[in-house]
Amino acid sequence: LQERLARLEDRHWIAEPTFKSGAEGESAPINKPHDLSAEVGTRRDTLDFEVEEAITRAQAIQPGWDRLGGEKRAVLLEAAADLFEEHTDEFLSLCQREAGKTLVDAVLELREAVDFLRFYANEARRQFTRPIILPGPTGEENRLSLHGRGVFACISPWNFPLAIFIGTPAAALAAGNTVVAKPAEQTPLIAALAVRLCHQAGIPEEAFQLLPGAGDVGEMITSDPRIAGVAFTGSTQTAQAINRGLAAREGPIATLIAETGGQNAMIVDSTALPEQVTRDVVASAFQSAGQRCSALRVLYIQDDVYDEMLRMIRGGFEALTIGNPEELSTDVGPVIDPDAKSSLERHVARRKKGGRPVWRRRLHRGANAGCFVAPTIIEIDSILDLKRENFGPILHVVRWKASDLERVIEDINATGFGLTMGLHSRNDDVRAFVEARATVGNFYVNRNQIGAVVESQPFGGEGLSGTGPKAGGPHYVARFATERVVCIDTT
Ligand code: ADP
Repeated sequence: LQERLARLEDRHWIAEPTFKSGAEGESAPINKPHDLSAEVGTRRDTLDFEVEEAITRAQAIQPGWDRLGGEKRAVLLEAAADLFEEHTDEFLSLCQREAGKTLVDAVLELREAVDFLRFYANEARRQFTRPIILPGPTGEENRLSLHGRGVFACISPWNFPLAIFIGTPAAALAAGNTVVAKPAEQTPLIAALAVRLCHQAGIPEEAFQLLPGAGDVGEMITSDPRIAGVAFTGSTQTAQAINRGLAAREGPIATLIAETGGQNAMIVDSTALPEQVTRDVVASAFQSAGQRCSALRVLYIQDDVYDEMLRMIRGGFEALTIGNPEELSTDVGPVIDPDAKSSLERHVARRKKGGRPVWRRRLHRGANAGCFVAPTIIEIDSILDLKRENFGPILHVVRWKASDLERVIEDINATGFGLTMGLHSRNDDVRAFVEARATVGNFYVNRNQIGAVVESQPFGGEGLSGTGPKAGGPHYVARFATERVVCIDTT
């Protein structure tokens, strides 16, 4: 653990002398996760025989967990939610130190995690407590009930190291499955605390097991024929690899629930309100250092307001405070690791060579030693000029003409991704036109496009962006379940 914590310092923090490191003694501004050491002090990547054993244990206890019923599982998940709230300081500290989150993002992250636990607990109660009585003739009773499928593998990314890490297992557990969970290799400590608290809440250790490690551990887990389903969040390429692996293996046909990448656009027309556009564009593109699946990557601005809108957006962009995520004033923190930084920098360098305008924030001296990427705005001709998702604080802008609206939407749809799209317009006809044609899971009008509130704004994409159903929505938990029908002759 000490080694990992030492590495955390290298990973995110800048060699800027005025910055507090958060680990240099008693003056550290927030709690340190030292009490985790007992649990994760000797943790390392999971070995193949441990994966094997974990699945054996999870499989053995699953029928009992399923028979426990929706009400009791709900109570346990709610007890976990209470414990998460009691450990707010530790979670916020870890989200900042392990994942480089700003305080605002860390607070939102914990809120979402707790909301997922409570919402899926309620879904367990609503859908898994009593069977549905189906219609039939007199003398016959037909009942439909939902049950766990078996052992679910939940594989999660680093950008929501708590909310997504706990969200999919909470749904799988609510539905009567047991879970082996592999967090992203960048954020195992947050996951370790989350799992420990679930066990403390009374969820059996065998029912929810943590298997930390990198992609090879994920591959070992998903290739085991005893895995009944995989809930994956991460890149489209990895989801496709998992899908191929599941298709090729022996055993029952596994369910894949995948939530993947995006190439998210926003369209701004000449009726949009400039101040509102500025606020929403800056938040959508640069909050969380652009490291959200929903983040805005390509902004289409109508030509007659292009210069003025861009000037205002650049004003908002210049006002962002970039720095240590432990500082309250920070708007944009670091990106997750050196690989992410170099890939984003390569993208900017290639675009600069193209000779189109590129605006970059200047980073203060020393920031280069950390994983900071200067927020950047790049002018391009079309979303189709981009070959991949650039997961960081980079916004591309495109000029469009009123006569081209249909083609703009076609281009956005042609990326094959379908996660979020934003529209700023005060014209109802434009709104209806775009809404009817946008093939995205989440469409946002006259607001930022990074909101995903459990229950009221279920989240998830289509096409290359995922399989659905939407996390935090009414159909999510049922996807983790199998349906059984019992027919009884009552004469
Ligand atoms: P990201 O770009 O968000 O890091 P990845 O798809 O690489 O997306 O990673 C998301 C999660 O998938 C991580 O937990 C990672 O370790 C895991 N992962 C990577 N490769 C595989 C694989 N082949 N099989 C299963 N899981 C994998």
